[in-house]
Amino acid sequence: MLKYSALKKLLKDHQLRVTDCRLDVLQLFKSRGHALTSRYLEDELTSYDRVTLFRTLNSFIEKGVVHKIPDDSGIARYGICGHSCAPAAHHHDHVHFKCSSCGHVDCLSDYTVPTVTIPGYLIQESNMILNGVCKSCNQ
Ligand SMILES: [Zn+2]
Ligand SMILES: [Zn+2]
Ligand SMILES: [Zn+2]
Repeated sequence: MLKYSALKKLLKDHQLRVTDCRLDVLQLFKSRGHALTSRYLEDELTSYDRVTLFRTLNSFIEKGVVHKIPDDSGIARYGICGHSCAPAAHHHDHVHFKCSSCGHVDCLSDYTVPTVTIPGYLIQESNMILNGVCKSCNQ
């Protein structure tokens, strides 16, 4: 688990004011290691109301702390960002993995989405979600 001082620093580095809610949400993301849904945040952090959690999540997205992961299930998931993300912009080209066994979505930060060039098309975003059985379920 990360110390509160490290979490505070991370918030400040992303131009976010330190609040208890932000610290708790960040702590949860750091300790879980896989992408989280807003529902999960609500269930875990019952001392905050939905609106507060929603605002916290949005401020994290805005400031480059977490990113929304595209998913065909309609449930939005959020993953913690790497060092390359800043308040001005997110920089992501990593692959996501969805486990059919535990249902977790992982950010595979070391694996990048292959670049595709299509004449006449301007590609603004590319995403890749791999489906299968994750490392911990595959043991
Ligand atoms: Zn990001
Ligand atoms: Zn799994
Ligand atoms: Zn990700």
